[in-house]
Amino acid sequence: MKGNLHKDTKVVHGSKGSDPYTGAISFPIYQSATFKHPGLNQSTGYDYTRESNPTREELEKTIAILENAAAGLAFSSGMAAATALMELFSAGDHFVVSDDIYGGTYRLFEEICKKRQLEFSYVDTCCINQIKNATRPKTRAIFIETPTNPMMKVADIAGICCFARSKGIFTIVDNTFLTPYFQRPIDLGADVVLHSGTKYLGGHNDTLAGFLVVNDKLLAEKLLFIQKSTGAVLSPFDSWLMLRGIKTLALRMEKQEKNAIKIAAWLHSQRQYIDKVYYVGLPEHEGYELSKRQASGFGAMISFNVKDVRYVRRILERVKVISYAESLGGVESLITYPVLQTHAAIPKSILDRIGVNDRLLRLSVGIENVEDLINDLKQAMEE
Ligand SMILES: *Cc1c(COP(=O)(O)O)cnc(C)c1O
Repeated sequence: MKGNLHKDTKVVHGSKGSDPYTGAISFPIYQSATFKHPGLNQSTGYDYTRESNPTREELEKTIAILENAAAGLAFSSGMAAATALMELFSAGDHFVVSDDIYGGTYRLFEEICKKRQLEFSYVDTCCINQIKNATRPKTRAIFIETPTNPMMKVADIAGICCFARSKGIFTIVDNTFLTPYFQRPIDLGADVVLHSGTKYLGGHNDTLAGFLVVNDKLLAEKLLFIQKSTGAVLSPFDSWLMLRGIKTLALRMEKQEKNAIKIAAWLHSQRQYIDKVYYVGLPEHEGYELSKRQASGFGAMISFNVKDVRYVRRILERVKVISYAESLGGVESLITYPVLQTHAAIPKSILDRIGVNDRLLRLSVGIENVEDLINDLKQAMEE
C-alpha cells in the first residue's frame, strides 16, 4: 500500500512509521547495543546493534521506500558510506568518475582507495563520449554526481546507465544535492545511490549520516556484510534524528527551491558584481532541459562568480542572515568558498579545467524569508 502513496506522504510515514508495540507515533530510539536471546539459538531478530538495530532499520527501510529501491543502509557519514561501497572492489578495478565532485570523495579515492590499487579516471560525465573513451576492460563502475558540486553540471543518468549496463558495469549516483524527493536514480537505471544524509535528508545542519541504496538483493547482501564487518553504522539516536528530518523533506525541498529560484534570478541581475550564476533552474543553464526530464525539481544549490576577488572576503565576512560555513542542505542558508573549503583536496589543474576559481562562491539556500536572504547578500556585496 505504501508504494502507491505520494512522496510527500511517504516522507512523513516512513516504513513502519509508528511503534507497533506501544503505538508511539514517533518511532522509538532503541538505544541498546545488544539484545537478549529468548532461548538457545533463538533471536528476536536483533542481536547486536552493529548488525542491526530497530531504529536504524526503520530509517534504512524509509530511504529504500523513498528511492524506490529494495534496500538502504545507513552509515555514520556520507564518507563512511562511500568507503563501505568501495570495499566491494579489489586491486586493479577501475572507475570513471565525474571530474567535478565533492572534494572529500576525490580525497577518498586518491589518498585511501589508491593504496588498494583501485584506479580512477576523472572526466566530464556530462559528455557521454568522454565516459566511453575512459572506459577500460577493468572498469567496474561509473561514479557520477548530478548536479555536480560546485559547478552544477547535469549528467544524463539514464543515458549513462544504459551505456554502463551494455558493458556490464555499475552506475553509482551521488544523489545528495536533489534527494529522492526530486530525483530517483534507481528508477533511471542506476545500481547504487549514495547520499550524504548530513545535507538535505537530515536537513538541520546538526547530524552526520550517509546512505547506500540498492535495488539488487545480492548487492544488498554484500553491502550488509561489509557494513557489519567494518562497522561505521549510524547510531540509534542519529537514525532517529534522520527519521525526524526526513518527515519535513518535502516542505523543506519545496521552500528551499522556491527561494533558490528567486535568489538565482536576483544574483543574475547583479551585473556590476557578478559574472556568472550557476543554478540548474535558470532557463539559460545548459543542464536545464535535461534536468527537467530526469528530475522533478532543480534543488537549492547556487554557485556564482564574483567579478573581483576582493568581493569574496567582503561577502563572506559581511553576511549576517547567511552563515559563512561549509556544508549544505539545511534549513539555515550557508555560503562557502569551494577553493579553500570543500574542494581544497582537488589539484589546481582539475579545478582550472572545471572552472572552480578564487572568485567562485557556493550558496546553499535555506528556508528563511527570501527577501531577508536577498537583502543580506545585497548589503554584503555593496561598497
Ligand atoms: C557532504 C557530501 C559528501 C560527504 O558526506 P559527509 O556526510 O560529509 O561524510 C558526499 N557527497 C556530497 C555531494 C556531499 O555534499
